[in-house]
Formats: sequence, structure tokens, C-alpha cells
Amino acid sequence: MEYAKNILETIGNTPLVKLNVITKDLPCLVLSKYETFNPGNSTKDRMALKMIEDAEADGRLKPGGTIIEGTSGNTGMGLALAAIVKGYKCVFVISDKQSKEKMDILRAVGAKVVVCPTNVEPTDPRSYYSVSKRLSEETPNSWYVNQYDNPSNAAAHYESTGPEIWKQTDGKITHFVVGVGTGGTISGVGKYLKEQSRRFGRNIKIWGVDTYGSVFKKYHETGEFDENEIYPYITEGIGEDILPENVDFSLIDGFTKVTDKDAAIYTQKLAKEEGMFLGNSAGAAIKGVLQLREHFTKDDVVVVLFHDHGSRYVGKMFNDEWMRERGFIEDKITTAEDLVKN
Ligand code: PMP
Repeated sequence: MEYAKNILETIGNTPLVKLNVITKDLPCLVLSKYETFNPGNSTKDRMALKMIEDAEADGRLKPGGTIIEGTSGNTGMGLALAAIVKGYKCVFVISDKQSKEKMDILRAVGAKVVVCPTNVEPTDPRSYYSVSKRLSEETPNSWYVNQYDNPSNAAAHYESTGPEIWKQTDGKITHFVVGVGTGGTISGVGKYLKEQSRRFGRNIKIWGVDTYGSVFKKYHETGEFDENEIYPYITEGIGEDILPENVDFSLIDGFTKVTDKDAAIYTQKLAKEEGMFLGNSAGAAIKGVLQLREHFTKDDVVVVLFHDHGSRYVGKMFNDEWMRERGFIEDKITTAEDLVKN
């Protein structure tokens, strides 16, 4: 018989899937690392498990303990799955701009969810950084995960996602493109791929996808933390108003910024044109690939990582009314009257 001993054993070994329609005008092969095949439907399962295992190993997380984290949803899902299998409790602090689906999903897997306002300074006592920190100080036998600065986050991608991509492309990958939030994915995968390619005298290019309203691109280009870059945005999962320790800027060749509108439209396009029902950061990531077209040539193999699943965005990017309200799509609703006229 062949079976996984528990759900955690099914994490990783996700497929690499070719893009065929959206990318048809690009000269190169574009492959997507399709992370929604993880059991929690996102790449975050990998780092959640690794962060827990490392905390168990050095005693930060003790039997029966409570896991506390500020999470936009996917990390929470990964942590919750591991917590169920391993017998821990979870409290997640989430910002109010996150989709209701994400909050409901976390509650469905047994976590307690605390909602905080988005548009306050990180240092504000109501911010989700401050609230999660305070909860961890006040809850007995608790462990504050801190995915932003926790080195096990990037290490998970260095140990699993990176090697999988290298193996699946037979070492032929030339560019890796990915949305950046905590930086764990880009830094872990980027480090592994750079190391491997340098063994063969090559240098794989690592591109980050950022959003307008986030500090990464400007900081990478100038070394300056520019507060003017920070303003509210709609895109979910990527961009920050802080510099997480998990973003290793030295590994990143460049950033491209994608607008909220383009990220939303391309999230819809992936579903409609490729049959890829994915999250909002996948829309941003594929638009980022298109924006980088001048960097690609005929023999290049571009891998773009798609973080999560579309089901978490049905009330948003997959809801045309929501899209219209924000001016992301202009077509009007077809009424019975229009049908009669035509
Ligand atoms: N996309 C989604 C949907 C995410 O949840 C995250 C994590 N915030 C990212 C992209 C960015 O990944 P990372 O935190 O590893 O940079």
C-alpha cells in the first residue's frame, strides 16, 4: 500500500505547469510552479511546517503550546494544519483588508482569528504586528512565529521549493519570478538556484514582483527606505511597509511593480485563458513576467511561482461587481433589455 502517514506528508512536490495563452507573445518558455497543490492550497504549507519543526527542535514550542502569528491567511492555514496533526492551538491576527473567505477558512481549521485595522502604522498598538506581539507576551506557553524575521521561512524554500524547481527544469531555468511579501519564497528559492547555477558558471536571474504602495522596489534600487512609497493598496499577499529580515536583497536582480488593477485583471485572465484558478498574487506575478519581456530571449526558461488558490478570492477579483466598483472592469451588466434590442 502507498499512502501518506498524515496530511503533512503531502506538502511539496508540486507540479511545474506551462503557460500557453497569456505568454504567447513572449520569446521564451514560461513555466509555473503550481503551489496550490499543497494541502493548505498554498506554498506557505512548506514554511509553516518548517518553522514549527525548528521551534520544536530548539524548545521554543513546547507540547500543548499555543502558536501565535500575524498572518494574511495562507501561513495561518499551513500552521493550522500542522498544529492539528501535532496537537497545538492557534491564534491568528489578521488585517481587516483580507478576504472574508480567508478568515472563515482559518476558523474552519480550528484557529482563533483576531481582526485588526489595516491603515495604521506598524508601531500603532492596534496594528497586527503590535497585537500579535502583545498576545504572545500575554498567553502562557505560547510561541510567536514571526514569519517576517524567522529564518526557517526562507530555509524551507531553500530546502524544498528551490531543489524541486532545479530538478524539474533539469537545471535549465534561467529566470525565477515571484511576488514578495515576507521574502521567504524569493530568498530561499533564489539562494538555492543562484548556488546551483554558479556551480555551472551561470547566473540565474531572480526577479521580485512588488506592488504600488510597497517599499521593496525603491529600497532595492536606492538603499533608501522611502516612507512616501507607502500607501494603501488592494493586491493581496505581496508588498510590505517594513523590511522583513527574510528579504535578502543581495540575491534579487530586480523588482517590477504591478498595479492593483493589472493584478486583479490578470488573476481573472489566468482562470479564463489558462484554466488556472489562482490567487491575486499569481495575477500580479504573471503580469510581472509580461512586464519583464525585454529581459527574455528565445532559449530562456522562466519559472514563475503561483502562491495560492482562487477560492480565497471569489468575493473579490472573481466578483465582477467588486471589480466594477473599483474601476477594474468597465463592461456593464447585460440586462434582459439588451438581449431583446440585439
Ligand atoms: N502570495 C500570497 C498569496 C501570499 O500569501 C504570500 C505571503 N505573504 C506571498 C505571495 C509572498 O510570499 P513570501 O511571504 O514568501 O514573500
